[in-house]
Amino acid sequence: MMATFHKHHLQEALTLLNTTPPSLAEETEALASCIQILPPELVNRIAAGEVVERPASVVKELVENAIDAGASSVQITIGNAGNTIRIADNGKGMNPKEVQLAFLNHATSKIKHAEDLDAIFTLGFRGEALASISAISKLSCYTRTQAQPDGVQLVIEGGKLCHFHPIGCSIGTVMEVDDLFFNTPARLKFLKSPKTEVAQIEEMVQGLALSHPNVQLSLAINEKLAFKTDGQDQLKQTVSQVFGWQPESTNALLETTFEDPLSNLKMRAVFASPAQESFHKRTKKAWWMLLNGRTVRCAILATAIKKAFEGLVPHGVYPFCAVWLEMPATEVDVNVHPTKKEVRYAHSEQIFKFVVGGIRRALQEQFHATYGLHASMQQQPVPQPLEAHQHAYPAFATPNTRSDFTSAPPIPQQSGMFWRSPTEQPSSPQPYPSSNSGMPTQTALAFYEPLSGTGPSASPNTLQQRQWRVIGQLFNTYVLLETPKGLMVVDQHIASERWCYEQLVTQSTAEKPVVQPLLNPIVLDVLSAEQMAILAQYQPWLKERMGFDCQRNQTDNLWLLCSVPQLYPNRKTISPVQQLEAVLEQLAQTGEAELDTELLFATLACHTAVRAGDVLSQAQMERLVVDWLACSLPWSCPHGRPIAHTIEADELNAFFDRPSLPVSSVAVR
Ligand code: ADP
Ligand code: MG
Repeated sequence: MMATFHKHHLQEALTLLNTTPPSLAEETEALASCIQILPPELVNRIAAGEVVERPASVVKELVENAIDAGASSVQITIGNAGNTIRIADNGKGMNPKEVQLAFLNHATSKIKHAEDLDAIFTLGFRGEALASISAISKLSCYTRTQAQPDGVQLVIEGGKLCHFHPIGCSIGTVMEVDDLFFNTPARLKFLKSPKTEVAQIEEMVQGLALSHPNVQLSLAINEKLAFKTDGQDQLKQTVSQVFGWQPESTNALLETTFEDPLSNLKMRAVFASPAQESFHKRTKKAWWMLLNGRTVRCAILATAIKKAFEGLVPHGVYPFCAVWLEMPATEVDVNVHPTKKEVRYAHSEQIFKFVVGGIRRALQEQFHATYGLHASMQQQPVPQPLEAHQHAYPAFATPNTRSDFTSAPPIPQQSGMFWRSPTEQPSSPQPYPSSNSGMPTQTALAFYEPLSGTGPSASPNTLQQRQWRVIGQLFNTYVLLETPKGLMVVDQHIASERWCYEQLVTQSTAEKPVVQPLLNPIVLDVLSAEQMAILAQYQPWLKERMGFDCQRNQTDNLWLLCSVPQLYPNRKTISPVQQLEAVLEQLAQTGEAELDTELLFATLACHTAVRAGDVLSQAQMERLVVDWLACSLPWSCPHGRPIAHTIEADELNAFFDRPSLPVSSVAVR
């Protein structure tokens, strides 16, 4: 019958082509014997390869079906290195007719029209999981709906129905998969070690549990409970249950909810602060991305998380972070890949900013909660033209030569007094702001503020509202502060480095970097030939992205350094030429395309900042603290070291056996 079918088609095709082959009969006969319509079991077995890569994919499909069936509880039992999989749910079950259909190819209850594809809220919708899984395993299904007095049992082996009869069982569905890949030996060969396959299952179920905190999920491997969630829809609780972390330590994780009604984006996140090293990992597996109830690996979200922690933790460190993102189904395409892990967004940049903004804001708020101080929202100095390089970068104050941050450098009255590039119109010099002058602030990294929604909760922390007082300096290294929480010890180098780093980042992302024009351009005669070649090559980039404006003198062909990036106007520990040299050195090594700007800024900031051992005047310390608190993320230095430590009042009270402090001493003047 198969052969007749083929002949008929072949003849039709040949007629269409208007050809009359000499021995049609023989040829069709020959072709018919080698071209076969595959029996459906075989088609399913081949298609199964796409859906069912490994035991973990079976688990995923079956658990997702259970959740789609409205189950509030799903038990997953794994045995025999992942070759035996049992999923029991309390969902709506299937009646005898439904269950027979469910195992047919492209049988789905989840999609009826083409338009449904644009608005799919259920997890599976291709209608091929059950057909595929049952084609390559021995599968038993027990299922019962509320309307049926009895359930049914159905057994399929290698795609062939073996049993189908009524059976007593509770409402819901149990799927038992045995001997996975028994009839596809090639696939079996590609499986990794049992340990790896089981680990993959565990990771898959962790993701499923995280993406459905409202479903009670349990996983038992070889008769041992791996984890169990309570389905209470509490994120931190779910996280601690999934990873087996102590609830007390998980409680210390940060949690945030963030919404943008305009773009209909909603995010919930649980993550470690830069200080919580026990939650820092060495791989990206520390990051979980859950989009509209599905675990995804998404480059955009991963980059957003990376960005949120950029400059707060050392390179190669991944603080634990789980992000639950919800958006309209029309804004995202999850149907790119059959296993639905890759996603495409309609507005990826918006999503990126939303996620970075959400995490960063929570970090800022946590800073306040931890230290009792408002971070950010403070005034920042405006760039000043510098007098001349030998005066512009005085050595930091020594016990003999005390200089003062708040004493402004002389301001040239005429803008013509300092050098200006022909194309650039620098803002006219402004008086150096005193720290309480109420200058409008541009919080570093403010680009990542959310698109809308409620603004940062930190109120402006002007000098009048200050919640801290500088007590003094310890070992010429730490600035001591009285704060509402206690005695805060601030590392002067790291605090200053943080500020410098954020300035440089702001600078490089600003459309027009804020520069300090040098009154007397510095002749760059110390540069080597190689450095000069690199300078010539990257001159526009250095000016536009970094704020190093170098011009070549027409007469003697020497390079002049005419402006430098905005940093502390009246102090530097290395000269601008040394700064430029550091940049040139990195450019020489990597080139602009691969330039690790984060590292470059971190290096520059480290060189530029106040050092440990520098003696600071009271005013200098105040300025340092004001600047530091103006940082968008005053947590830690770009290398991940913490900046401040508070010895809490309670700790002191307990030590001295004092019930509480006199009220007046807590309020900081
Ligand atoms: P899809 O999930 O893409 O629809 P599947 O092959 O996974 O395709 O499942 C086919 C159908 O079988 C589903 O649409 C659903 O109606 C039914 N089904 C599968 N698993 C369950 C379950 N655990 N409980 C109730 N119905 C189920
Ligand atoms: Mg499915």
